[in-house]
Amino acid sequence: MQLERTVNPKILVIDDDDQIRRLLLELFSEVYDCWEVGSAEEALLLLGRESFDLVISDINMGGMSGLELVPRVHSISADSVVLMISGQNNIETAIQAMRAGAFDYIMKPLEIRHVEAAVERALKQSLLLKEKRRYKDQLEQLLTERTAEVNRLAYYDTLTGLPNRALFEDRLEQAVAVAERSETKLGVLFIAIDQLQKINTLGHLAADRVIKEAGVRLRRCVTERDTVARFGGNEFALLLTRIEETKAVVETITSIREAMKPAFELEGQQLFTTASIGISLFPHDGAESQGLLKNAGAALYRAKKAGDDHYQFFTADMHAKASQQFALETSLRYAIDNEELLLHYQPRTAVDSQKITGVEALVRWQHPQLGLVSPAEFIPLAEDTGLILSLGEWVLRTACRQNRTWQERGFAPMRVGVNISARQFKQPHLAETVLQILAETGLAPEYLELEITESSIMDNADSAIAVLTGLKQEGITVSIDDFGTGFSSLSYLKRLPIDALKIDQSFVRDVTTDPDDAALVMAIVTLAHNLRLKVVAEGVETEEQLRFLHLLRCDEVQGYLFSKPLPAEALEELLTYNPSELLSQAILQA
Ligand code: C2E
Ligand code: MG
Ligand code: MG
Repeated sequence: MQLERTVNPKILVIDDDDQIRRLLLELFSEVYDCWEVGSAEEALLLLGRESFDLVISDINMGGMSGLELVPRVHSISADSVVLMISGQNNIETAIQAMRAGAFDYIMKPLEIRHVEAAVERALKQSLLLKEKRRYKDQLEQLLTERTAEVNRLAYYDTLTGLPNRALFEDRLEQAVAVAERSETKLGVLFIAIDQLQKINTLGHLAADRVIKEAGVRLRRCVTERDTVARFGGNEFALLLTRIEETKAVVETITSIREAMKPAFELEGQQLFTTASIGISLFPHDGAESQGLLKNAGAALYRAKKAGDDHYQFFTADMHAKASQQFALETSLRYAIDNEELLLHYQPRTAVDSQKITGVEALVRWQHPQLGLVSPAEFIPLAEDTGLILSLGEWVLRTACRQNRTWQERGFAPMRVGVNISARQFKQPHLAETVLQILAETGLAPEYLELEITESSIMDNADSAIAVLTGLKQEGITVSIDDFGTGFSSLSYLKRLPIDALKIDQSFVRDVTTDPDDAALVMAIVTLAHNLRLKVVAEGVETEEQLRFLHLLRCDEVQGYLFSKPLPAEALEELLTYNPSELLSQAILQA
C-alpha cells in the first residue's frame, strides 16, 4: 500500500529528562513538527488541544507514569501511536506498556540509528491507522447510503417516488389500529388511470410520464397525513385518515376527477384521460387492512366495468361477483388451448322457399366445472380482456374449415355467418386475418358472412366504411347484427357497403302483439329493400311470427321454430333432410 502524508507528521516528546528531549528534538524537528513536555500531566493537557501522530514517552517520570499514560492517550486520540522510552532496568514495564497499547519501545541509552528506525516504523503505523479509519468511515457511510437506498427501493416506487404497495399496506395496518382505538373512519381508494392501452401506444416513456404526472396530481388532492401510493401499472391507492363522514370521501373523489381533467402534455401531444375509482371504508367494509384492500379492489373492478371515469363504493354483494368474474377470466385464458370452446350452428332459412340459405356459427364454452357457459357471459369478458382477438380468430378458422368440409362432403354450398365483436372489428389487420384464414381453409369468400353489430360500426362510421368496402371487394358478405338496438343514422346505412340487416330478436318477439314493433319491422324491411339489402329476422319462435314476417316481406328467418343452434353433426342431418321446408309450407299455406 502506498501511503502518503499530506501534512508534516506531528510528534510529541514526553520526558522529565531535558537531555533526552533535546536530543530527540534535534534529531527530528527538521523533518517533523516536534513538540515537547516534561511530564505526563502536561502531555494530557496538551493532548486535549492538539493531536499528534506520534507520542514518544518516557516510562518513569515524576508524576504519572508512561504506563498509565498510554491508555489515556488512546482514549483522547485513538490514532496516535505511542513509542515508549525505557531504561534497561524497566524493560518489563515497557512490555506492559505495549500490552496497554504502546506500539514499540526504544531503549536508553538512545542509539540514534535505532531511534530513527523506530520513529519511522511508528509513523508508518500512524499512517496505516489513519488510512484504516478513513476506509472504515467510507465503508460506514457507504453502508448507511446503501441501507437508505435499499429502504427506498423496498418502500417507494421508483417512477413516481410515492410509497409502494408494501409501505401502503404497512401504513394502512397502523391506521386501522389507530382508527380502531379512536373510533374514527378510514377510506381506502383504489384508483386506475383509464385508457392506459391508448397511452401505451404512444410508447412506454409517454405512459411513464402520464403515470408520474398522475401521481403528482393525486398527491395534490389529499392532505399531508394521507398516503398516496403507487401499486404498479396504472394503479394507485389512497388512504384517507380521520374522515368524519362519507361526504369527505366524495369530496376527495370529486377533486381527483377534476385533477385528471386537464390535458397531460407529452412532447407535442396533448393527452386526455380519466380515472376509475373503487372505495372501501373502515370499519364498514372491513375490520382489517387486507379486507379493506380486497374490497376496494372489487369496487374498482366494478367501476371499470361501468366504463371509464366511474367510481364505485364497495357493496356487500360485490365481492362474490367480482371473484367469480376473476375466476372466469382466468379459466377463459386457457379455454382455447384446452379445447373447451366449440361451435354450434343455427340454420337460416328463406321465408318463401324454406330452403336453408346458411348457418350462423355460435360459440359455446364447455367449462370443466361450470358446464356450458353462454357467450352472453363470456364474450363481454373476452372483449374486456382482449382475449376476444384470439377467440374470434379461432371461431373464424373453425367455422370456415367446417363449412369447407361440408362442401367437400357434397352438401349444397351455403354461407357461414361469423360474429365479429366490436374490438375485433376495430383491430387494424382484420381484413388480412380474414383473408388469410380463407386461404388457409380453402373456403371461397362468397361463403363467409361477417355479422357486425350496429354499435361497432357507429363507433367510427368512416373507418368502418373503409374496412367494409375492403371486405366487400374481396367478395365477403357483411350483415348488420342486432339491427334496431343501436342508433344507426339512416344516412350512414345508405353509405355502408353491406348485404343484409338482421332484425334483433327483441322486435321479433312481440311483432304479432305489439303494433309499434310491427310498424318498426315493416319500416326496416321497406328501408332495407330500398337500399337493396336483405332482411333477416332473428329469434323466430312461433308460427304466428313466421306468418307475420312473411306478410311483411321479410327475406329470411332464424330461430327456434326451425332449429336451435346445433353441433356440426346434428346440423348435417338437417342439411340432409330439412323438415322445416315441409313444416313451413304447411304453416304458410294454412
Ligand atoms: P347473435 O349473434 O344475435 O346470435 C343470436 C342469438 O340468439 C344466439 O344466442 C342464438 O342462440 C339465439 N337465438 C336463436 N334463435 C332464437 C330464438 O328463437 N329465440 C331466442 N330466444 N333466442 C334465439 P347465443 O348463441 O347465446 O349468442 C348470443 C350472442 O353472443 C350472439 O348474438 C352474439 O352476439 C354473441 N356470439 C355468439 N357467438 C359469438 C362468436 O363466435 N363471436 C362473437 N364475437 N360473438 C358471438
Ligand atoms: Mg349474430
Ligand atoms: Mg343478433
